[in-house]
This record gives sequence, structure tokens and C-alpha cells, in this order.
Amino acid sequence: MITIYETFSPRETAELGRKLGEHASSGDVYTLIGDLGVGKTVFTQGIAEGLGIKETVNSPTFTILQVYEGGRLPFYHFDVYRIGDIEEMDEIGYEEYFYGNGMCMIEWGNLITEILPKNRKDITIEKDLEKGFDYRKIIISEVTE
Ligand code: ADP
Ligand code: MG
Repeated sequence: MITIYETFSPRETAELGRKLGEHASSGDVYTLIGDLGVGKTVFTQGIAEGLGIKETVNSPTFTILQVYEGGRLPFYHFDVYRIGDIEEMDEIGYEEYFYGNGMCMIEWGNLITEILPKNRKDITIEKDLEKGFDYRKIIISEVTE
């Protein structure tokens, strides 16, 4: 199933993320794809807020994994953009997180498709400048075996 949302401000994107975080269940896995500056961090900050995480969430960039405890569920925030080899994921012990008790968000998950859980949701954020500078299309597709 594919669901498409449209937002017209950073606040609206964060709000959508917040709702996702509020309804997330233990073991939920999401991937997040979108160009630089499209709103991945804004969206992820909304998710963290929805999970009740008080800590500031930012772009992990130089750390593949950031773990946030202290919310309703643990939040595992991956950014695999700079991953060189899939073995780096083994070194982190990714399975503990992908199949763990928290909610998992994997930025640039398309780079590691071979190890992604079969049941997950893929989120893509896109701009469309014809619809305005602050317009974003957020596509959530449910992937099942
Ligand atoms: P990314 O993490 O994808 O590189 P960021 O979330 O850091 O992107 O930045 C998104 C930028 O786009 C912010 O400066 C934000 O204010 C701006 N922006 C404008 N409109 C939107 C929108 N509808 N949703 C999200 N961000 C938006
Ligand atoms: Mg970011």
C-alpha cells in the first residue's frame, strides 16, 4: 500500500513525523530517502517528538547509528549514506536493532537493500518547485514479503 502526503511547511512535515512516532510499535522499521535539504531531519525530529524523546535529534552523518532511549520506545536512527561495505553493518550488530524492541529509521536504506527487513515501510520525500519552495511530497510505501 502506498500513501502520499503533501506538506507546505517544515512544521507540517514535523507534525506528520510526530503522528508516525506516536503510533509506532516495537519492531517497526522505516527507511527514509530524499535529497539533501529535503526535510529528512525535520521529519525525523517529529518522529522523535512523537516517541516522547526529549533529546535533540540531528543528522547522524558521521555516525551510522544513533540510539535514543528515554522515549515510549527506543529509537534507532541509522544513516547509511557513507557506508562503504555492508560488513560495517555487521560490525554495528545491526540485527539487534532491525529486529529489536524499538522503532528503527534507516536514512538511505536503499543502499543496503540486501539486509533490510522484508516487512518495512519505505519513505521518500521529494520537492516539486512548481508547487512552491516549501512544498514536499512524502510517499510512504508498505513493503511486505
Ligand atoms: P535533510 O535532513 O533532508 O538534509 P533538513 O531536514 O535538514 O533536510 O532540512 C530541510 C530544510 O527545508 C529546512 O531548512 C526546512 O526549514 C526546509 N523546509 C521547507 N519546507 C519544508 C517542508 N515542507 N518540510 C520540511 N522541510 C522544509
Ligand atoms: Mg538530515
